[in-house]
Amino acid sequence: MKDINLKGIVFDIKHYAIHDGDGIRTTVFFKGCPLSCIWCHNPESRKPSIQTIKKELKLDGKSFCTDETVGKEMTVSEVMDEIKKDLIFYEESGGGATFSGGEVFLQDKFLISLLEECQKSDINTCIDTTGFVSEGTLRSVIPLADSFLFDVKLIDDEAHVKYCGVSNKKILDNFRFIYANGKNIRLRLPVIPGITDTAQNLKLTAQFAKQFDGVEIDLLPYHKIGKDKYRKLGMDYKMDGVESPSNDRMEELVRFFEGYEITTTIGG
Ligand code: SF4
Repeated sequence: MKDINLKGIVFDIKHYAIHDGDGIRTTVFFKGCPLSCIWCHNPESRKPSIQTIKKELKLDGKSFCTDETVGKEMTVSEVMDEIKKDLIFYEESGGGATFSGGEVFLQDKFLISLLEECQKSDINTCIDTTGFVSEGTLRSVIPLADSFLFDVKLIDDEAHVKYCGVSNKKILDNFRFIYANGKNIRLRLPVIPGITDTAQNLKLTAQFAKQFDGVEIDLLPYHKIGKDKYRKLGMDYKMDGVESPSNDRMEELVRFFEGYEITTTIGG
């Protein structure tokens, strides 16, 4: 089988994305994630398989239910057709394709084939990752990818296990490994009140980031848009009562990291 016929499961493709790396990009969201962050606003991305969920529709004051499929099997060639639709925007804006999730590395062969195809077509690539991947897989991907958006949620390992379901040891090692390989890498911190936004985690994150010259931070504010999806998926929502951080708080955090001389941006 040719690699362009290799199939993966994608749960969304977003065109004209401007927060997923440089310039205007097409972001391909892979389905499946090995983490289980309690604040996840894309719970439909977590299960690696295609799912059917109930969707409520309202028409003329009446509501009724219909099935909605989450996830779609696509070949490398089909995804490339979507990516290539926006070539002109990439050229003009310095953009390209971003592979996100879920966690892209759960479908590593599919990812590698897409990166190879992008490289052949001279399309800039960015990987948006949780960093939860074996070093061996990372080694084979690094030469193919132009940049990384890398989530560092909690530095304390116990807290990481508690709130994200897995240890962060491999994640932090992989951040170091990508940086040591000379790749462009940005640290992304989801700002979750009382969980990642604590004095201890902020200080530890700043100290971690400070070890890597030139690494910048993106602060991603928590929002509640995923709440309704939990109900549809029959999953427990554990963030009741947690509000999104205010603009003032986000600005305060920017100033906090800038105090460590780390360039910091709100959003991507
Ligand atoms: S890493 Fe992202 S997709 Fe996976 S559970 Fe956490 S928030 Fe959700």
